[in-house]
Amino acid sequence: DLSIFDEAKEILERLESYNHKAYFVGGCVRDMILGRKIGDIDIATSAAPELVQQIFENVIPVGIQHGTVIVRHNRQSYEVTTFRTDGKYSDQRHPDSVTFIQSIDEDLRRRDFTINALAMDKDGEIIDLFRGRKDIADRVIQTVGNGYERFEEDPLRIIRALRFSSQLGFTISELTMANMKNLKHEIEGIAVERIKQEFAKFFAGEHVQSGIAYLKEMQLDHYLPVFRNHRELIHELPDGLTPVPSFGALIALFHYLAPQITIQDWSSQWKCSNKEKRVAIDLTLALRQYNKNGLDSWLVYCLPAACHSSIVVLINLLLDERVELNDFLRLNSNLPIHSRQELAINGHDIKQLFPSRNGGPWIKNILNAVEFAVVTGKVDNDKNDLKEWIKWNPTATN
Ligand code: ATP
Ligand code: MG
Repeated sequence: DLSIFDEAKEILERLESYNHKAYFVGGCVRDMILGRKIGDIDIATSAAPELVQQIFENVIPVGIQHGTVIVRHNRQSYEVTTFRTDGKYSDQRHPDSVTFIQSIDEDLRRRDFTINALAMDKDGEIIDLFRGRKDIADRVIQTVGNGYERFEEDPLRIIRALRFSSQLGFTISELTMANMKNLKHEIEGIAVERIKQEFAKFFAGEHVQSGIAYLKEMQLDHYLPVFRNHRELIHELPDGLTPVPSFGALIALFHYLAPQITIQDWSSQWKCSNKEKRVAIDLTLALRQYNKNGLDSWLVYCLPAACHSSIVVLINLLLDERVELNDFLRLNSNLPIHSRQELAINGHDIKQLFPSRNGGPWIKNILNAVEFAVVTGKVDNDKNDLKEWIKWNPTATN
């Protein structure tokens, strides 16, 4: 079904009207052939990045040196990258130099796997120089060209191979796997941020179990942060592993399985953002709360909505219980308030209830107690009700 490309087609047409070549490339072509939900639509063109910037009204030059410009079109973002060949990757992050070229052929040759090395023009005509379509039909991952050289050039591709096997459920060809095993130690030279991005997608893959089987078979974990010092860790994963939605959830999962490795250890060794760390902490606290009180409104209230699907995954994986996301959503929509700001009373009101007392932490303590009482349905979120409740509730006013 080509209709998903309808709006993006206008970008190809615009580039062609300037006498340049332009194609859809990479994952979007692969996923279209597979009938899989398409992530981003990436475009490759013979037009130089400067020209792409001039042709389109709304552009963000994200990686001009590497030829990549983001074009905004009908509120969608498209990565438009000039055809290029890559030089050596000596910093294991970016190629040292890129050379812009006029033909798509060499551009496809620099791509990692045959299934990712397809291009499609605006009419749906596919360029397939490396039998990518056959490999998609056979459900097999193999490198474009000499695997040893390609993995040596950018060892991140070793993890990408596992990531695609986990996402797509494809096998990795024997030759490609042999080359991955031979070069797996090179992973240690790669920037952690790049590894993390692929590793997170690996664990979020629909076929993560077969991905894990490959990972164990090649003992790649011996070269990964945290895992390299805890070789038993990968074997602690539950047999019925299901996709883990985010890196933060992954930390919470492993921290639950091996509490001696702290969230701080994970975050610093994997160079996590504060957000990822926050998610790991929130989920860890929620798991503890669940173990104590089961699924209740206070747990749902305390956990940011973005973590709801993750906690469901973790409970089902780790606690041998069946919880549905719908149970969460129902509790969430029945909550009387969703944040402290929605309380019908504030610190100022509370102070006025006790004119003789000076300000201090007692106000915050009362607010906490009120918040808990409202969320757990002990009192209505009504100003007068809350005032009464505070007066008559001795523990809260301590
Ligand atoms: P997703 O659906 O997850 O976005 P994708 O195939 O689009 O999958 P990306 O990481 O977005 O994967 O990369 C886009 C394309 O760029 C790939 O399909 C591949 O052709 C090429 N590519 C990306 N990273 C590399 C790499 N390290 N080495 C070689 N080619 C790469
Ligand atoms: Mg992509």
